[in-house]
Amino acid sequence: MEKREFKYEGKAKKVYLTDQEGYYWIEYKDDATAFNGEKRGQILDKGIVNNRLSATFFKALEQEGVPTHFVELLNDREQIVRSLDMLPLEVVVRNVAAGSLAKRIGAEEGYVLSQPVVELYYKDDALGDPLVNESHIAAMGWAKAEDVAEVQAMGLKVNSVLRAIMAKAGIELIDFKLEFGKYNGKIYLGDEISPDTCRFWDMVTREKLDKDRFRRDLGQVEEAYLEVYRRVKEVLGDA
Ligand code: UDP
Repeated sequence: MEKREFKYEGKAKKVYLTDQEGYYWIEYKDDATAFNGEKRGQILDKGIVNNRLSATFFKALEQEGVPTHFVELLNDREQIVRSLDMLPLEVVVRNVAAGSLAKRIGAEEGYVLSQPVVELYYKDDALGDPLVNESHIAAMGWAKAEDVAEVQAMGLKVNSVLRAIMAKAGIELIDFKLEFGKYNGKIYLGDEISPDTCRFWDMVTREKLDKDRFRRDLGQVEEAYLEVYRRVKEVLGDA
């Protein structure tokens, strides 16, 4: 496949067309943002870790029956994906209260939920991606009820697959965010799965190994991303 014209630049990735319709050429950047773009910076080699880790996770999920947009890893920073018609939703799955949930329900960060929690957010930067429910989504026509049900079920499936992988790596999967889209009427998991989009805590030390190190200025950000990649590679091998 050949890289063609630039299409779109997001916060963490650049998207290019390819010579084949239905496929995008994705380039992962080192740029990091937090708090809806208010905090900006760079995390050295984050693009490499997130590109390779996402590819590794997507492959493992495909093997477990979760359709993903991933097609082929090209090099350190680039991969080919299927072009999806994205649903304007973020699906967050949580096993342990942290971040915005800990605040919202008045729980200590680290409070273990008795069952996974699935949340839906409407993707809109200007609104700050508000928390919404199925009723809001139906009333606003943001997605079909059957598609919302499917992405929630897929979110739970991804949770069980990822949780098991991370446990083998000695890492607790606290929570994560997914984005989905459609291709030929079928729903696929899109975007990325990385320390940018997941909370990972070391099972023994409880040390944070994710973007919270950048958000909260905890230091050793690059080291944490590399550590996750190193440990996942030990469990799953390279993509
Ligand atoms: N998350 C994300 N992108 C967003 C919002 C959240 O990847 O725009 C991830 C975040 O890294 C965490 C999970 O979704 O793993 C839940 O995030 P939360 O709602 O607690 O928000 P935060 O505390 O990150 O603002």
